[in-house]
Amino acid sequence: MEIEIATIGGYEEVGRNCTAVRAGDDIVIFDMGLNLSKVLIHDNVETERMHSLDLIDMGAIPDDRVMSDLEGDVKAIVPTHGHLDHIGAISKLAHRYDAPIVARPFTIELVKGQLEGEQKFGVDNELVKMDPDERMAIGDECELELVHVTHSIIDASNPVLHTPEGSVVYGLDKRIDHNPVIEEPFDMQRFREIANEGEGVLAYIEDTTNAGRKGRTPSESHARNHLKDVMYSLEDYSGGIVATTFSSHVSRVTSLVEFAKDIGRQPILLGRSMERYSGTAERMGRVNFPDNLGMFGHRKSVDRAFKRIMNEGKGNFLPIVTGHQGEPRAMLTRMGRGETPFDFDDGDKVIFSARVIPEPTNEGQRYQSEQLLRMQGARIYDDVHVSGHLSQEGHYQMLQELQPQHVIPAHQNLENVGKYVPLAESQGYKMGRDLHVARNGQTIQLTE
Ligand SMILES: [Zn+2]
Repeated sequence: MEIEIATIGGYEEVGRNCTAVRAGDDIVIFDMGLNLSKVLIHDNVETERMHSLDLIDMGAIPDDRVMSDLEGDVKAIVPTHGHLDHIGAISKLAHRYDAPIVARPFTIELVKGQLEGEQKFGVDNELVKMDPDERMAIGDECELELVHVTHSIIDASNPVLHTPEGSVVYGLDKRIDHNPVIEEPFDMQRFREIANEGEGVLAYIEDTTNAGRKGRTPSESHARNHLKDVMYSLEDYSGGIVATTFSSHVSRVTSLVEFAKDIGRQPILLGRSMERYSGTAERMGRVNFPDNLGMFGHRKSVDRAFKRIMNEGKGNFLPIVTGHQGEPRAMLTRMGRGETPFDFDDGDKVIFSARVIPEPTNEGQRYQSEQLLRMQGARIYDDVHVSGHLSQEGHYQMLQELQPQHVIPAHQNLENVGKYVPLAESQGYKMGRDLHVARNGQTIQLTE
């Protein structure tokens, strides 16, 4: 059977991830992501109303025109998890394919939210929820499986396409976490089994985000302990404490909520995306928040919550807000600019339970946001966080366990993919033979 890979997006940047695998006449597309920084750099761009081709030209969504080079039918669109750089372009591209969108339940709920916001295209692809213990037939000879992995969002998966020539493992976005806070541990056992089934692993597409980082990415429980230490150290502080994190990082939000209670403060989630992700997780029964946890997304209800905090005393509350990357329209940035009823006093604390995504736009915006907060007297706790991506030791381990015939590094620009190359070479792979460094829009023929 002919197996071919199309490297559609995410091979020249962090963002707009998209890869297609053709096995004979059947094609599966993994991820359709958005490169948000290409959108934010323009003032007031509303992607909801924009046409796909304009967004492709901006570099914001994958250029899927390479799909016309693949001879076959798309049988499924499979987002690995609910981060925007993996699902953010579904609303702009999926309607071009007569195929269902298949993912784990939390991811499907987030995709549903994306599709509801879409105003240009009617996207009516079927949404199919699939769990890691299920299989889906792809054509007559192949099967799709979602292996449970741990990442900075719940229900992350590494999809595997089982073909007669071996498995293709789409390995984006994970860390090997044996002790995540609200989920099952990383399923290495299943990867081991896949490596030993049939023809083994034909190809492994790897998330090289942190290929330049030595050692091992710590567990979420490590970030939880760090956060606990920071928050418990503030137990006697009677002024304002504000925390921010990735709103999609429901495990971290859960820890923040819990430690707020421990130090005698009422947690309140503020910001539209805080409400969206945590509200979705709560409705699905995936988290157990206290009954009195306020979640407010709309401007008026947010302002009301801030007024209540100011009236009843900042020392009684922990606002958990959006804006960890300094996004201009996010809550913390607005607080820094003095656009909300919340006033900082000298010595008030701001906890960033996040790391700046190393990208010039984010770095600049975050710098500005921090300066605005400091000018009001706030003190900053930075980097109370662990990465969601493998570091070098995780990369070695995955190659060891899977023993793939071919390796395709992804999820980075060429400069950072370059950091993965010597690592793979040290394990016996060779550029141009079985280690394929690709650009966006290429095809790689693995078997004939
Ligand atoms: Zn991710």
